Amino acid sequence: MKITGVKAVFPKYRHVPPSWRTHFWQIVVRVETDLGVVGLGYGGGGVAGVEVVDRHFGPLLLGREVNEVRDISSIWDDLYSASLPYGRKGLAIMALSGIDLALYDLLGKAEGKPVYELLGGAKKPKVFAYATGQDSELYLRLGYQAHKFPHRWTGNQADYDSAAEAARRARELFGQKATLMIDTYMSWDKEVTAEMGRRLAEFNIYWYEDVLTPDDLEGQAELRPLVAPTLIAVGEHEFTHYGFSEIARANALGLWQPDITWCGGITAGMRIVELAQKAGVPVSPHRGGEVWGLHLILSSDCADLAEYHSDHIRAERDNLWLDEPTPKDGYIAPSDRPGFGVELNETML
Ligand SMILES: [Mg+2]
Repeated sequence: MKITGVKAVFPKYRHVPPSWRTHFWQIVVRVETDLGVVGLGYGGGGVAGVEVVDRHFGPLLLGREVNEVRDISSIWDDLYSASLPYGRKGLAIMALSGIDLALYDLLGKAEGKPVYELLGGAKKPKVFAYATGQDSELYLRLGYQAHKFPHRWTGNQADYDSAAEAARRARELFGQKATLMIDTYMSWDKEVTAEMGRRLAEFNIYWYEDVLTPDDLEGQAELRPLVAPTLIAVGEHEFTHYGFSEIARANALGLWQPDITWCGGITAGMRIVELAQKAGVPVSPHRGGEVWGLHLILSSDCADLAEYHSDHIRAERDNLWLDEPTPKDGYIAPSDRPGFGVELNETML
């Protein structure tokens, strides 16, 4: 089938926290074809991502054939090359992710297959889910056996105590066997992370996430033996297999977390997983419980671990995608409907 139209939209969000997300949060990409099949993708880059898709990538795609996975891969390479002077990382690749995912959705719908079937089929029936957020009691009640909570360094020695208290509370609540992680969103530094490694060792934390700036590969590599067996993890701020190959070369991380709607879509995700296999590093995609990452986790050598935010149960959120799968008893699986298996909430466009 031939691509006849490409359009991106920045949805009308009402619950996006004020930050870079106000203008550069997720976009929807719609790809139309001569067969009438329509693919929908989820990318990043907000209003800038929309411009990249509508003004640059869209016109390049008109008339392109999409009949198999290989076609999507070669389109990815062409768009990466075309955007190279202003792209490679960040907004342009976030926009490219939306196109790549729309093409996978399109191919799945055309063949009547879920995306995980296009990727070689499910390797497991469901994926172990972990709950990200601060409402530990809620996650426990919902049946999770894995939980990641945030901690921020504010420059105060008391932050060591608050981290230990949070870890102790989570460990007591979830039990000795549970998988626990801490996300610091770039607020710890080398000294703090090394000291946390000593103070939190007894709580058996699986990983410390995003401890330094993602540019400090050397610093992260140096931290790894200091906090082992806890892993140094990140990846939501890295892009494409080219970016992750730098991480591999520096031996900077113990676990990679590419965001499939930012890092270049399923095409880049598969290439990143292949690299990680060679490097002997597990991959657990950022927001992997959303369908875009979930289909990849189910059908690839990703770790059996999907991130999910369940806080909407107590707070309002924008429901852009309808019929999204939710975790049950701590596990999550996508539906077997064609493509990614979700419908777009058109009222948000
Ligand atoms: Mg994070």
